[in-house]
Amino acid sequence: MLIISPIPAFNDNYIWMFHAPDSQDVFVVDPGDARPVEEVLSRHGFNLAGILITHHHFDHTGGISELTRNRNIPVYGPDNRNINGITHTLRDNDTVKLSNCQFEIMATPGHTLDHIAYFTDSGDDENPALFCGDTLFVGGCGRLFEGTAEQMYSSLSRLASLPDNTRIYCAHEYTQANLKFARAVEPNNQKLQEQAMQVAELCSENRPTVPSTLRTELDTNPFLRSDQPEVIQAASDRDPSSGANPVDVLRVIRAWKDNF
Ligand code: ZN
Ligand code: FE
Repeated sequence: MLIISPIPAFNDNYIWMFHAPDSQDVFVVDPGDARPVEEVLSRHGFNLAGILITHHHFDHTGGISELTRNRNIPVYGPDNRNINGITHTLRDNDTVKLSNCQFEIMATPGHTLDHIAYFTDSGDDENPALFCGDTLFVGGCGRLFEGTAEQMYSSLSRLASLPDNTRIYCAHEYTQANLKFARAVEPNNQKLQEQAMQVAELCSENRPTVPSTLRTELDTNPFLRSDQPEVIQAASDRDPSSGANPVDVLRVIRAWKDNF
């Protein structure tokens, strides 16, 4: 099993840190900034054992050079030569063993073309974990900066096929804004109302709303629900040319969210 905790960075990024319960060797995912990572390492006496990168955006990669300056550690990431410092290039369906856990790599293009996600099912009765960067957010999905709606749909569909109890460790605290939009898409979704209330409570206490579980996302996240009648209807109300094809529905609601 893994102990997984967030290191907040910038305005709304989470750098996820994980380690085995009996180990001081930690890995970090998407360190956009080195300073908050170094602070946590020294506060807990942790040893940085490696870095995982999901995609090339600077808020996910900006800390690599500083964190590796005086450390000889592996940096895992996508096959993109624009990311400086990757030592281990990962491709779709690759596996890598970190902290005694086997991770599966899933290519998830859409937000960017190079985007990958890291999934682990540690094999005991703990929840599996997914580090999904900016592909899937709690209540939302990443903007389509480089990829198409088709690519995002197939990436999200693959993530949606993971076990229901998978914990979703995304890279941003965007949940409240995402759920505001989700409620505009599905005003009658009861589970979404409940999720929004829980999230409002967490936010009022300044606590992270991440991780969520895949089950919750399947029930509440409109970008995983583009085949549901209410979401199809909302998309065609927004854009009458939109049919029931889930890719078109995703395209319409993504564009709607961009201007929400
Ligand atoms: Zn990004
Ligand atoms: Fe980001």
